[in-house]
Amino acid sequence: MVPFNYLIAKDAIEATSLFNNHRNSKFIAGGTNLIDLMKENVSRPDTLIDINKIDSINTITELPGGGLRLGALVKNADTAYDHRVQKNYPLLCQAILAGASAQLRNMASNGGNLLQRTRCYYFYDTATPCNKREPGTGCSALGGLNRIHAILGASESCIAVFPSDMCVALAALGALVNTHGVHGDRIIAFADFHRLPGDTPDLDNNLHPGELITSIDLPAESFDVHYSYLKLRDRTSYAFALVSVATAFKIEDGLIIDARLALGGMAHKPWRNLEAEDFMKGKEPNAKNFSDTADIILHEARGHEHNAFKIKLAKRAIIRNGLIAVNLQTA
Ligand code: SF4
Repeated sequence: MVPFNYLIAKDAIEATSLFNNHRNSKFIAGGTNLIDLMKENVSRPDTLIDINKIDSINTITELPGGGLRLGALVKNADTAYDHRVQKNYPLLCQAILAGASAQLRNMASNGGNLLQRTRCYYFYDTATPCNKREPGTGCSALGGLNRIHAILGASESCIAVFPSDMCVALAALGALVNTHGVHGDRIIAFADFHRLPGDTPDLDNNLHPGELITSIDLPAESFDVHYSYLKLRDRTSYAFALVSVATAFKIEDGLIIDARLALGGMAHKPWRNLEAEDFMKGKEPNAKNFSDTADIILHEARGHEHNAFKIKLAKRAIIRNGLIAVNLQTA
């Protein structure tokens, strides 16, 4: 780890201002990913700006029109165990509690969850080429071990996946990301927050330099009756998803009137397909319709040498999780 300066920001304005004076700096909250990256010399900021003293972004508050605002500094565990989140957004609770370990969830912040970086082996191995770590050097995963890599939305530059569970549920729920930057505050739709790799895989998201996530808004529509988060992985805890699915429905008179479906472990961002969601509306929630939904989502999937199995796995996961969400099958 290279030496670095350590500064403390007392509010979002000061955090942004400190960044402007230290352009090779990083904000730090829980540090559960950043410290690993620094130890491995993948990330080499000359300054850390500690944002943990910004009390205004460390709360969960109810929004006037319904919905909840999750402060960026609130820990993942405190979010999952908040009684309002548990009651109204059980899909989000399931997803958060499927992630990492209890110790990590106690430390990791909500904002940091959105900003965690891929767990591609080569990204962490500074002896190997990696376009995400060093643009223009190549992608070691394309001809290397790619079992955990993307089957949707990848590019010739990068086939990494975004590793979060929490974000898959946030994508399905249609959350909003609130930020503060040099040009003031802005709101980013969750679908527009993370990026596909294209030819700039070094950019994970659409934040501007020095822009700070202040909170995440959950909409009033909570999908708290028919929902399920299913995570498939190599071991049952403390492992990243090979495939995960967040599914939620509104059902009336035996028909789906609204549907949400987002996938994790599949792409450089949580993968949501609006065409597939529209297809489900007006249909019965059964295995045949979920199978057809999976075909819509996966027709553009492309496997690599070691991960083509993910296509079939994802289809099965979509069907199974749909049935769990409508209580036709238990987990
Ligand atoms: Fe790097 Fe992306 Fe290739 Fe992994 S998949 S080696 S992160 S460029």
